[in-house]
Amino acid sequence: MQQELIQLANRLISFKSISPNQAGAIDFIHQYLDNLGFTITRLDRGKTSNLIARIGNQEPIFAYAGHVDVVPPGDIKQWQFDPFTLTSHEGKLYGRGIADMKGSIASFLVALKQFLSNKNNKLPGSIMLLITSDEEAAATDGTIVMVDYLKQNNIIIDYCILGEPTSLDVLGDVIKIGRRGSLSGYLEVIGKQGHVAYPDLCKNPIHLFAKALTELSSITWDNGNDYFPATSFQFTNLNSGLGVTNVIPDNLHASFNFRYNNLHTATQLQNKVEELLKRHQLEYNVKWTESAKPFCTKPGKLIEVVTHSIKQESNLTPQLKTDGGTSDGRFLIDVCTELLELGLSNRHIHQINENIPEEDLVRLCKIYLAILEHIYTQSI
Ligand SMILES: [Zn+2]
Repeated sequence: MQQELIQLANRLISFKSISPNQAGAIDFIHQYLDNLGFTITRLDRGKTSNLIARIGNQEPIFAYAGHVDVVPPGDIKQWQFDPFTLTSHEGKLYGRGIADMKGSIASFLVALKQFLSNKNNKLPGSIMLLITSDEEAAATDGTIVMVDYLKQNNIIIDYCILGEPTSLDVLGDVIKIGRRGSLSGYLEVIGKQGHVAYPDLCKNPIHLFAKALTELSSITWDNGNDYFPATSFQFTNLNSGLGVTNVIPDNLHASFNFRYNNLHTATQLQNKVEELLKRHQLEYNVKWTESAKPFCTKPGKLIEVVTHSIKQESNLTPQLKTDGGTSDGRFLIDVCTELLELGLSNRHIHQINENIPEEDLVRLCKIYLAILEHIYTQSI
């Protein structure tokens, strides 16, 4: 298993699939799955490639979702090894995307081949793969396109695993069962410009906004719940003034972001902020962008099977978390009954010299294989 896995991971790393260009990586997976007897649907759009593969036509449907695109390597001279050649060094595997998330894809593909080649494994259901090349960039032509296709064809996935890197210190110590929402605001506070020596003739937007800023940044929005941390509100930009000391500025620009849990909706948070701005009698304009809704999977068979499989292969019980940035889970949840994320270590993702402990690749492959077996053939 190890040699095949390393070869496959090396092949995937060798495609320079900087988002959203698949650079041959999706074509390679297409061929691999075709050889295993999968029916393939390609939903390529613009520069993005998307692949939906399915074997079996019964329910339940188990799906693995992932992305082949990677972030740029940055300054190649700073890399210890070529980022597009998988390199083993002192117990670690180096390469752009090995953790996020080509290593996970390779592990699943090898587990899948092994599962299907075992004649004792019956498949009273279907297995699907949803692979995109647009996760790291805009994500506008990627998973969302495949989700639309599934909706149009009334396909609901019963159990879905997204292979994003979720592990923290040891492989399998954390699985993500949801993600927080992300809501950004771009605020302009309107004042009246004038000579600093004549404040009565002006409206200073800095002074006007100061109290609202203090209040906004000290609110406890909630205390979190069993699965979500407390909602966080952070100012990210604050600009005002002409760069001189004798003019009161005309306006002030502030931007801020909520990472919020499932105790709120975006509209509720927007209303609370705007009520506060009005109470402070500010004249303002605000634009809102919601880039992700919060979601949390319902507790069921998938969490049970994954927890059991990790315990079997790694002898630890994973923590169920919802922290970190957004993921394509925000789109997939619309077509999945149960969805969670399980993958390699996220310690070095997007970094120069991205790497994982070498033994993790085989272990993840064994965990994925155990999950397939427990979903379809063995009870736990
Ligand atoms: Zn990723």
